[in-house]
Amino acid sequence: MTTKAVNQLNALYNIIDNQQQPEDWTNYDSTFRILSTWSSFFGRPKYVNGVNTGVTWTQTKINMKHAISLYQTVLSVLSSKSLSGIINCNDAFLKKTGTTTADQKHVLYHDTRHQPAYDVWLPSSLSGKLCHETQETNGWTWQNPFAQRDEITICPKIFDNAKNEQLSSVDNSMSGLQNKELGYYKYLTAGGTLMHELTHAAYNIGFDLKAGDQLVTLPGTTSTTPAYGVKLIRLLATTASGPSIALKNADTYAFFALAMYLDACDWSREVCGAQDFSLRKKTPNGAWNYLKFDY
Ligand SMILES: [Zn+2]
Repeated sequence: MTTKAVNQLNALYNIIDNQQQPEDWTNYDSTFRILSTWSSFFGRPKYVNGVNTGVTWTQTKINMKHAISLYQTVLSVLSSKSLSGIINCNDAFLKKTGTTTADQKHVLYHDTRHQPAYDVWLPSSLSGKLCHETQETNGWTWQNPFAQRDEITICPKIFDNAKNEQLSSVDNSMSGLQNKELGYYKYLTAGGTLMHELTHAAYNIGFDLKAGDQLVTLPGTTSTTPAYGVKLIRLLATTASGPSIALKNADTYAFFALAMYLDACDWSREVCGAQDFSLRKKTPNGAWNYLKFDY
């Protein structure tokens, strides 16, 4: 999944770096699919005669380089087997106490893997969100400041889901994926959740690259929610400062990598086969009329 994300992003980066126009693309369908998904998840670049607002191409290249480096770092941690820290498949050993720090920023749990139990102060943003505390959580990652290591938990429900179908066995063809939602594959397989959690693993990938769970404001309200899932990722990417925030959003990377893995489809609108926009129109004589990019 990560290898395919790196390869496809590099291919797109080179096309943009060489200032190729859509009419010059040697593999139009594949290039369009990658650009379309990138635009939808990380922010749409500025076109000439398409939508005239958006991220400049110079900034798009900088953003792509950042995403490529994050994926490459995750890949090198995994392929060199240098992932250090702890990966748990449950967290029921952590027992919440009623104690919080005076500034309310940390909550005391007892780590009952040890006898007597160790005190563990978790950020209050995690409190009540552990796997055994809610069914909504897929996984969570904590930078243990005392041991200076990442502790990742992938929740048991993710492994239960993955018992029936793994990402590697999904039929990656247009007919196999048609009308499916990308979110279905994220929750079906453990790979997407692991990718999400690895982007939080600062001791492994570096504090500069580390992503968080960024908040997005729901349309027509003042309330915010973490940008989980394709709908909220896409919403985040369209907000004014969205593209720079999307680069720091864990689920954006997880879903983009998944979209690059299941590359028979354009996932820019979440459902396989629905396109977010078009870069060409057929003229009455059957030839294509292409948009030009404002490089
Ligand atoms: Zn997260």
